[in-house]
Amino acid sequence: MMFDGKIVLITGGAGGIGRATAHAFAREGATVVLAGRDVTALTEAVKEIGPGRADHVVADVTDPSSAAQMVETVAGRHGGLHVAVNNAGVLDAVGPVADIDTGAWDAVLAVNLTGVFLSMKYEIAHMRTHGGGTIVNVASNIGAHNRRPGMAAYAASKAGVSILTRTAALDHIADGIRINAVSPGASDTPMSLLPGESETDRAVRMRTAIPAGRVADTSEVASTVLWLASDTSTHVVGHDLVIDGGAAA
Ligand code: NAP
Repeated sequence: MMFDGKIVLITGGAGGIGRATAHAFAREGATVVLAGRDVTALTEAVKEIGPGRADHVVADVTDPSSAAQMVETVAGRHGGLHVAVNNAGVLDAVGPVADIDTGAWDAVLAVNLTGVFLSMKYEIAHMRTHGGGTIVNVASNIGAHNRRPGMAAYAASKAGVSILTRTAALDHIADGIRINAVSPGASDTPMSLLPGESETDRAVRMRTAIPAGRVADTSEVASTVLWLASDTSTHVVGHDLVIDGGAAA
């Protein structure tokens, strides 16, 4: 039980990767708190994990007061915050740069980059006065690592998460807070489907698009997040770990 007695906050916790990560932490003894905007999805995800092991908090990570409230609620209800996984993200504003709607650009940056900044800002403020903690941010291999046309907003936001992670790690390691990121490649959630694409068609596309020949299972991302959050990676600081079946190798 690697996380026995630990309180773990996961933003976007009702989504594909967030939910798998929540299950993995709960199996290791943690109490998981799932954050997001959709209360129905959050309630269902909490029920799936089981009574007494999961809770939810409704929060919009783009809103500073909501992000602050999210952390305050977790610590107030559960008596602490030991691990945070900043996973909330959207894939939108897809297309060539000249054609990207400026509002859509802002919206992607607001969730994917500012949302991680705001979440970390309040998580760190709590952790540094309560014995430290670990943070894992979810970036993407379409960021600092990989290049894909039509993905400028998403790629810029995720490259931002990668460098934000490394800088925050330097800022706060002396506070007892260890911060890292994961950069998944295409994973088994609707986000990796092209518009109108079926899972079968995606599987065919991925046979050649990814050296490993397939998308990542969400559990493969989750296990890496757990490792980075755990006491088995204590000297790993400011790292951005790519999990993409070799796509950006
Ligand atoms: P997903 O199933 O769509 O989950 C995304 C989650 O983010 C949802 O639960 C959503 O919940 C939450 N969210 C979105 N905007 C939010 C906001 N403003 N405030 C709070 N929560 C918000 O996506 P996923 O595939 O699991 O992706 C999870 C993360 O992995 C994302 O950061 C994504 O960019 C990254 N990633 C995914 C892949 C992939 O192939 N799937 C690859 C690389 C990286 P609500 O709608 O309830 O708010």
